[in-house]
Parts: sequence; structure tokens; C-alpha cells
Amino acid sequence: MKDKNQKAETTYIKALLPLHMPGPLTYIWPFDKEPPKRGTRLLLPLKNRQIIGISWGVDDCPKEGIRYKEVAEVLDKTPLLTEKLTKFIGWASSYYFYPLGQAMGEALPSELISARAKGAKRITRAKAGPGRSRLELFSWEEARITRFTPEQDRAISVISKEISSRTFSPILLFGVTGSGKTAVYIEACKSALKEGRGCLVMVPEIAMTAQLASRFTRAFGESIAILHSGLTPAQRRDQWWRLRMGRCKVALGTRSAIFCPINDLGLIVVDEEHDPSYKQEERFRYNARDLAVARAKMENATVILGSGTPSVNSFFNSVNGRYQLIQLFKRPSGAKLPRIEIIDMRNEAGKSVSLKEKAAEIEWMAPRLRKSIRETLARREQVLLFLNRRGLATYVFCPACGYVFKCSSCDVILAWHRRNRTVLRKAGQEALNGGPGMLACHYCGKALPALPVCPKCNNPTVKTSGFGTEKVAEDLVQAFPGITVARIDRDTLTSRRKLEGVLRAFRNGKIDCIVGTQMVTKGHDFPNLTLVGVISADMSLNVPEFNAPERTFQILAQVAGRAGRAQKPGRVLIQTFMPDHYSIRSAAAHDFAGFYQREIRLREQLGYPPFYRLINLKFTGKKKANVELAAEKTLEFLKALSGNSPKCSILGPVPCPKVRIKSRYRYQILLKGNISEIRRLASMVDNKAQSLLPGGVRLGIDVDPINFM
Ligand code: ADP
Ligand code: ZN
Repeated sequence: MKDKNQKAETTYIKALLPLHMPGPLTYIWPFDKEPPKRGTRLLLPLKNRQIIGISWGVDDCPKEGIRYKEVAEVLDKTPLLTEKLTKFIGWASSYYFYPLGQAMGEALPSELISARAKGAKRITRAKAGPGRSRLELFSWEEARITRFTPEQDRAISVISKEISSRTFSPILLFGVTGSGKTAVYIEACKSALKEGRGCLVMVPEIAMTAQLASRFTRAFGESIAILHSGLTPAQRRDQWWRLRMGRCKVALGTRSAIFCPINDLGLIVVDEEHDPSYKQEERFRYNARDLAVARAKMENATVILGSGTPSVNSFFNSVNGRYQLIQLFKRPSGAKLPRIEIIDMRNEAGKSVSLKEKAAEIEWMAPRLRKSIRETLARREQVLLFLNRRGLATYVFCPACGYVFKCSSCDVILAWHRRNRTVLRKAGQEALNGGPGMLACHYCGKALPALPVCPKCNNPTVKTSGFGTEKVAEDLVQAFPGITVARIDRDTLTSRRKLEGVLRAFRNGKIDCIVGTQMVTKGHDFPNLTLVGVISADMSLNVPEFNAPERTFQILAQVAGRAGRAQKPGRVLIQTFMPDHYSIRSAAAHDFAGFYQREIRLREQLGYPPFYRLINLKFTGKKKANVELAAEKTLEFLKALSGNSPKCSILGPVPCPKVRIKSRYRYQILLKGNISEIRRLASMVDNKAQSLLPGGVRLGIDVDPINFM
């Protein structure tokens, strides 16, 4: 009895910490006032440091016999997180099997919450509330739109009606590349603002979509908040507060913006909804596109998923009536879609007629592509070449003993890189004398000086094979003397500013040709770009993933969409060793419907999404035997649970295609089947993880996975 009375005198409160732990911790509430609402930040002692956590309500029955610590300080006057946002993050955390506190830690800007030990300075900054850091806005000159096309008009009126209905309305806006979707998004935002509600606009990558960002900042000026990974922590925090305080009602951002605090959200736009960068591939493995639909549902909002190449899932949802389909078939500029030709690389060898031509042959360039590049440059028009692989050579080996250079902590081959120069101008010596460069791992960034002696047999002359964007750029300046080539990939584009500089120079005609990886497939309008060459369409097809054909179709259609957007007709050449593959054929024929029909039938036959759902259980650890053991134990556990249920199949365990990354071995078990059944199994494994995993092995749960490497 006495004990109980004593407890009644003390108030205990729960707090979520941004750390790997299943639930909230309990603290003593030492102050005279009422404890704060859920979502308020608290400064809390933990071991011998202080940490920022989120209050999670009063704890009515704390465990006995524990010496709880006291809350040190309340950091917010108004709770940082609204009730709605708290509920949404909670939903995401349970959907993706990711601990709530940690999910909050990832959803919030790092300056506002952080698990790391905090100096006094950091705490002051976290407490500071809305600051005054300035953001440089995007500006990209272009003609204003004077009149909408009839298609745009219709789309805008349908969408406005949905927005004013104030009910959950998911819409798929399928508009071919260059059909003027941005203008539709902007009008939709204006409708939502007229209703007094807020808007969230998401883009896959801010740098490549500077043009869209610029149109938005022109339309909404100071009332827009911008959220992307290029911001400083202080800028990010300020943008967040501006939204939280209701000073601006439109947010434009990348993936993580899905968690930003907009009061009374009436509209969410997901541009290029098919883009895989909406999926976070580590830690909190959410898909911002899917979360957009979930959040819109919670907020009774309209959500527009826009794309020129919709994902199979979203299009399926429009066919079965879950999403309303709105289509834009025409380009306002009147420009026709480009002519796409397939170059069958199997027949290209030996096409060179003269000896001189033979001598000048370049491994990656078919004579037909070479001729088109020459003609395009002669007309003073521009060229874009796409290759989804960086570097000068794909791998380096010893011709004497066969040794292949691999990364010592990842089981992947090292690529040869020489220079980080973005723009190449001169042929001859200058281009070639880039020094020996280095061998680099694309996964952990480790690098060796190139080209080393073979460590196995000491042969000093190792050889290289394969090619990446760097090689393509070097070969181009050799083959077409006098031209200026810019390379756009992760090696050269270290900042948004740099990228914008290159894009601007290209637009102004100072660069003749761009060579780039996936980054170049999205976004921009270049009026004088008339030739697009795809160096190898097969690269994205030849990966062991069920969605490889979909990705390939999307990449090809998107990159093709960059050619001939203005008055001059565009031409696209696709080099491939698989010219009959339906992804490539449909992309070449601008035939989304044809591709979809074929793909959806295959998915149904093979039991892949959207017919069945997937959850991937990923085991990683430094000791291979332990990782294998964890996977095997989990398999046994799963088998006992599911008892050969026809609702689900358990595939694996198998080593991941990339067996070891950053010194950790990787195994996976794929659950495929009815969603509630596979969720049930995954959650049992999650709860049991402690006992299923030997020391040092970690389990990551990937719900609706798209990457299986
Ligand atoms: P996408 O559908 O690929 O996102 P954009 O929104 O970038 O296409 O529009 C493509 C081009 O068409 C842009 O240059 C844009 O300014 C222009 N545009 C859009 N709508 C109109 C219109 N009604 N009249 C004239 N030009 C337009
Ligand atoms: Zn590595």
C-alpha cells in the first residue's frame, strides 16, 4: 500500500529516443507544471550523456524497483510534432518494421534531434527554434506559359474538383515527357491554397529538377519551403520550422520531405513517381511514393502521382479503379516524340568498310551512332549519351595469372578511374595525360593507386577491360576533335551548383555533348538537343531482379524523352545485344500500353507484385558462418510458423548477389505472398530477432523491396 502511495506522488513520463530500441523509455517528471503533450522535445539523461527525445505521454504504471532518471529540460514551447504527423510517422514505423524512436530520428532534421552526444552548443541550436538562414532560390529563365492546352485545362479542372471535395483522392497523372505536367501541378497547388490547405511537392532529385524547382519558386515565391539533401543542417531546420509555424504552406523536396510538418495538408504531388530514388535503401527502408498515398489518406487529401512512364504498380491501381487516371498525350510545344532506332550490336562488328575506319573503331560506338553524332554536331545541334556505369574501365586484371582486382572489404570488382574533370575539351595529349588514376570501389569508396603490379604473380603490366562514362567522354574528344564534352555522374558532380553550371552551359550551347549516368535521364528541357544515344540498353536488363524489364523500359523512355523537345526533330539510337526484348521494343515504339500488357501478364504468372507482395529479410554480419546460421535458423522458424501455407512462399536463404559489402556478408530470405500473411511472418521474426540472431548479425526488414542486390 505504502509503495503505491509513494508512486502516486511522482509523475513518470515516457520518451522516445532516436536509438535502436523497441519502445519508449520512462523518466521522472521533476517539474511543477503539467507534463507536455506528445511530440514535444525533451532533453534527457542517458548513461553519462544527454540526448534529445520526444515526449510520449504519461507512464501510469512504471516498473517497480528501477531507479529512473529525471527529465532535464523541455525544449519546445509548442510540440515540434503535430498530432497528425506523429500518427503518420507511427504508421510508417510499423509498416516498415522500424523502431518508432529511430524512425522519428530519421524523419526529423538532424539539428532538431540527434542520438549523438551533445555539446552545450548543439543543444542551444536545437532549442533555437526558427532561425534566419537564407536559402538561395532556384532561377532558370524560360518563357512563361500564356495558355493551357485543352488537355491541361481538363486535368486542372478534374484535379481542382477533387481538391475541393476534401476527401482522399489518389490520381495518376500519366503525361508523356514534355506534356506540361509541371503547369498542372502548380495549378493544383493554387487550388489547395485557395481551400486554405497546404501542399507538398516531391521530386526524386533536386539537382536534376532545378527547372521544376525554379518554376515553383517563381509561382509561390516566399511562401515555399525547400527541403533537400544539399541544405546545411541549419537551413534544413529553418525550413522545417517555417512550415511548422505556418509561415509557408508549400513544401518542395526530395524523399525525406514526406515527413515535413505541413498543417492541414490538402495536396501531395509525387513527380516522376516511378523513380526508384523515392525508396530509401538502408536503415528506415521507406518508399516516399507509397507513403505519400498513405499520408494523403490520413489527411483526406488529394495525391497526384505524375509520370511519363508510370510504375507497373501505379498503373495497375488505375486499371483496377483505385486511382483515377488522367492522361496528357500531347506536347504543348507541338514537338513530336523522337524517332527511336535500335542498333543490333550483334551485327555491328565488321561493319566498318575501309581500313581507315577500322583503325578508328571505338569499342562502344557502332558506326551508325558515330555517323549520327558527326552529322548532329555538323548541324551545330547537341548530343546526349547515356551509360549507366562510371569510370574508365570496368575492371582490371592480370593477363599472366588471371587475377582480378577486387575490393578487400566488398566482394566486388574495382573500376578504374582517372580524372574528376567534368568538362573535356581538347583531343590528344591533354586528354590522355590524366595520370594513372586509381582503382575505386563503388560501394565503400576505397581506392588503390592505379595501375598496380599484380599482387599474385608480380606481373607489372596489368590490363583493363570494359568502359564507363569516363572512357566514353575521353573517346569522344578523340573521335571528334574540337568538341566540348561534359560528363555528368557521381564522380564529377559533387555539388548542385556545379551541376547547374554544366546544365546551363549545355543549354547555352557552350557544351556540345553530355555523357552521363542515370542522372541525365530525368528532368530538363534542352531545345537544341536532338540526338540521344543509349550506349548499352542491356545493362539494366541483365540484373537478377524481377523489376529489371520495368526499370529498363522507364530508363529508355525517359532518356529518349530528352531529345527533340522543341522545334527540331529528335532522334534516339539504342545500342543493344538484345534487340528483341519487349522492354526495348516497346520503348522504341513509345508503346507504354504494349509494355504494360506484356509485363503485367508475366507478373501474374510468376506471382510477383502487384499480385503478390514481397518482404525481404536481410541478414548481415562480419562472420560468414554466423550470417548463414542466422538465416538458417530464421528459415526453420518461418517454416514452423507458416506450416506450408499456400498463402505465402519462403524463398532462400541465398547469398545476396553482392555477397559482401563494407566487410559484412549478406544473405536474404524473400517472403512472397498474401500481404497480411507475409506481414504476420515478418513481425514474428522481428519480435524473435534477439534469439534468432547470433552475435554480430543484424536483420534488416525490407517491405515492398525493389532492390535485391
Ligand atoms: P513534363 O510533362 O515532362 O514535366 P514540362 O512540364 O517540363 O513537361 O513541360 C514541357 C515544356 O512545355 C516546358 O518547357 C513548358 O514550359 C512547356 N509548356 C507547358 N505547358 C505549356 C503550354 N500550355 N503552352 C506552352 N508551353 C507549355
Ligand atoms: Zn569496397
